[in-house]
Order: sequence, then structure tokens, then C-alpha cells
Amino acid sequence: NEGLGSWPARRARKTPHRTALIHGDTTRTYAGLHDRTTRLAHALRARGVRRGDRIAYLGPNHPSYLETLFAAGTLGAVFVPLNIRLAGPEIAYQLADSGARALVYGPSYAGLVAGLPGSTDVRVYLEVGGEYEAAVAEAPGEPIDEPVGADDTCIIMYTSGTTGRPKGAMLTHGNLTWNAINVLIDHDLVADERALVSAPLFHTAGLNMLTLPVLLKGGTCVLVEAFDPDATFDLVERHRITFMFGVPTMFDQVARHPRWPDADLSSLRILTCGGSPVPTPLIAAYQERGLTFLQGYGMTEAAPGTLFLDAEHAVAKAGSAGVPHFFSDVRVVRPDLSPVGTGEVGEIVVRGPHVMPGYWGLPEETAASFADGWFRSGDAAQVDEDGYVHIVDRIKDMIISGGENIYPAEIEDQLLAHPDIVECAVIGVPDDKWGEVPRAVVVPREGAVLDPDEVLASLAGRLAKYKIPKSVVVADGLPRTASGKLLKSRVRTRYGNQ
Ligand code: AMP
Ligand code: MG
Repeated sequence: NEGLGSWPARRARKTPHRTALIHGDTTRTYAGLHDRTTRLAHALRARGVRRGDRIAYLGPNHPSYLETLFAAGTLGAVFVPLNIRLAGPEIAYQLADSGARALVYGPSYAGLVAGLPGSTDVRVYLEVGGEYEAAVAEAPGEPIDEPVGADDTCIIMYTSGTTGRPKGAMLTHGNLTWNAINVLIDHDLVADERALVSAPLFHTAGLNMLTLPVLLKGGTCVLVEAFDPDATFDLVERHRITFMFGVPTMFDQVARHPRWPDADLSSLRILTCGGSPVPTPLIAAYQERGLTFLQGYGMTEAAPGTLFLDAEHAVAKAGSAGVPHFFSDVRVVRPDLSPVGTGEVGEIVVRGPHVMPGYWGLPEETAASFADGWFRSGDAAQVDEDGYVHIVDRIKDMIISGGENIYPAEIEDQLLAHPDIVECAVIGVPDDKWGEVPRAVVVPREGAVLDPDEVLASLAGRLAKYKIPKSVVVADGLPRTASGKLLKSRVRTRYGNQ
């Protein structure tokens, strides 16, 4: 077995007594993880799960998530993580689309699972803490040796779907392994790493930028079910956390917390922020504490690490997403795929052993997503004179006003510098004269009152006139995906026609 399914056995051979996972009062050594994973694989096989079958998982961060992933890999089956924030019909869609045969779920989802339509292919249900424990306890522990190769599919991960129906990105064992190797190389991970996993494992970043690389190296992952800034301080102090990964909103909540000035953060060595544009004021707040963000840019389809800004360049190149990971090739191109010149805006395309072979069951979408072997990200970027890539925005969120291209992220960054704005989104609204003009939707800091005119005045002189929003809407909050990404399409429907 060349795949992920062999990792617990390989680790158990080298470092059986080291701690792999901590969750509440539960601790699993690598030997323990290997033993439970093997038993679970036997239990699934005894219930009819075979090579190539899909095994879905629905639950918050928990050791059983990783046991199920590794057990699937042991059998050559495909793991399908489901987003716990989805509604019943959305879960049913992903179960049916992936044709999942087995479903492992957390106890809080028993009601949702009972209400799923009978039309899915799921035949095996294991509830964590119930049937799941019994199945692991009574199954044999002999090693399983299925021939699983690097090109076999390991995971189908549904993209967060900021538009349309979610698509299942097929990631092979090779894709996930190369990504983990890229992370190990570029983060300088060590065997003593202690990672705080509060980003959800059902998204690519929590799993692939943090958990899998740390487990490959033999470190410890502290699994947290839901991100909470207050608990984050306790966990960092108690476990002497060295490595955290988060989306900008998580790091922002930590920095705004009353405990921030006095907390002991001395164990932290690696803080990686990614998944969304990182606001400059946030980088500055951590800088003031002597903490440097590493920045990552990636996408589910690329398993996901693509660009990375390392510690050495984090300050000098702050705001850039960096250069490609060691085993990744990235270009910023014009529509004809020719590379852009310095400062010119183009689309990011990526190629490498970490890029998915395609979307599950969608050959046309797959073909449309690749050009000449390069995966098209849909993100706009510029390259500076040193080859560092600066993400500009999603191409489809671009506003065209009087023939000028406006990338909302640039305006959002300026709005976030306002002391009373905690969140914002800029969208294009129809305009008789200009075709489209920018509108800002802003969320005030708790207790603050925002005056739209004052907000606009604060932008004067800092942005070209045509980029200054023509209207400001004050909102209570903004729609985001579970991974903290702004749902621009929903912001547009909600605030685009007032
Ligand atoms: P997902 O489909 O959930 O994997 O998200 C991938 C998308 O997130 C990318 O195509 C980008 O639009 C966005 N993204 C990821 N990392 C960054 C980053 N560092 N800066 C800006 N946008 C990012
Ligand atoms: Mg995507």
C-alpha cells in the first residue's frame, strides 16, 4: 500500500509511543491509531465495503474522522468528508452524487441521518460513540495489505461552492502526499510539532495544510470541534502549541479578544493564514506581538497548497501570497495562456503532482477547468519584479465601471483599515452612466455606529475616484462559508438591489 492508508502502520513502526491525536481527554498514540484504523477497516470490509467504494463522514473534528480516512485508504476505498453546516438536502445530494456506500457520523447528526431520503446508496451506517465503537472493538487487528497506488483516488472533497452546485474534487493518494511533502519542506516542520486543529477537517486546509503534514512527520494534532477564540488561548498554553493554521477571520477574532495582550503565546512558532485575502491591518496586529504570519494560497482542487510566503520573506513581501510550493508550478497568464508582464493582471494557473485529475463524474467541467495541462484557478493576480505573486481577486467578482476594471478586494482592504469596520464586502451594482459602480457593505464593530458619509470620506485620496464606492450599506453580518470565505453571490442578491 503506497497510499495514506499505510501512514499509521509506517508511523507505528517508527514512533509507536508518540502521541498522534489529542481530543478532549482522549489521547491516541501512533500505535493506537494504527490498531483502531486496522480494526475499523476490517469492520467496514465485513459490512461489504470494497475497493473503490465511497465512505462518507459527517461530523466535527474528532479522532474518528482520521480513523475513517485511514481505514478507507487501507481498503482502497474513497473517503468523502461532508460539511456539517450543510442542510439535510445538501448532504443527501453529496451522498447521492458520490454514491457513498457507508456513512460514519457524529452522534449529533443522528436526527439528520435518520431523515435522509432512502434513495441514496448508503447501506452501512456507523454512529460514532455507538455502533462505530462496537464495530472497532469486535473486529480483528491483523494487518490488511491491499494494493493501493499513488494514482488511486483517496478523497472526494466537495468544493465550498461559492457558486452553483458543489463539485467533487477527486484527490489521489499521490496528490495528498505531495501536498504534505510541500508543506513539510516549506514550513520547516519538525517531529515535535504540536498543531492546533480548529479549522474544520472537512475542508481542505484543516486536513491538508495542518493535520496530514504533522502526522506524516510524527507530531501531535490537538483536535478542536469548533473554533472559539477564548478556548484557543487555553489550548495554546496547555499544549504548548507550535503550529496553527487559520483563515483570516479566526486570527482576527483572536487578536480582538480581551485576553490577547496578556496571553502566553511563546510556544507558537508557525502561524499560517490562508484561504482568503489576508487584510494588511491583521498582519500588522500580529507583527506588533512579534508574531509573523506565513501565508498560503491554494484551492481544494490542488490539495490545496499552491503558493506560499515563507518566514524569511513574510515581512518584506507582506500582502503577497508568495512563490509556488517546492513541487508546484504556477503561472499568471493572459487568456491565451501567455505569461503576463510585471504588474499586469492575469489568471493564476497551476500544474504539479498535487493537482487533482478531475471532478467526480463531471468530464465536461473537468475539461473546462484545465488548459494545456494547467488547472485554471479563476483567480486574478499580478507578479512583482521578484516573481512574488499578489492575489488581486476572483476574476468573476471584478467590477467594470466606465471601462475600468475594479477588483473589490483592494477597496475592502482599505475599508478594513477603518477602526469601526470589522467586516466588509464590495459588490458591483448597475449604474446608468458607468454600467456598474462599486457598493460597500460594511459591518460595524460591536457598539459602534457607522456613518456612510464618514466611511466614504475615509477613503478619499487613498483610492482612485472610480474605485470609491457610490453607496454604503451597513449590515449586521456577512454570509460566509464554513471556511470563512465570503459568499459574494449571496451578498450581491441581498444587497445588490436596494
Ligand atoms: P476552495 O474552493 O474552498 O478550495 O477555495 C479556493 C479559493 O480561495 C481560491 O480559488 C481563492 O479564490 C481563495 N483563496 C485561497 N487562498 C487565498 C489567499 N491566500 N488569498 C486570496 N484568496 C485565496
Ligand atoms: Mg473553488
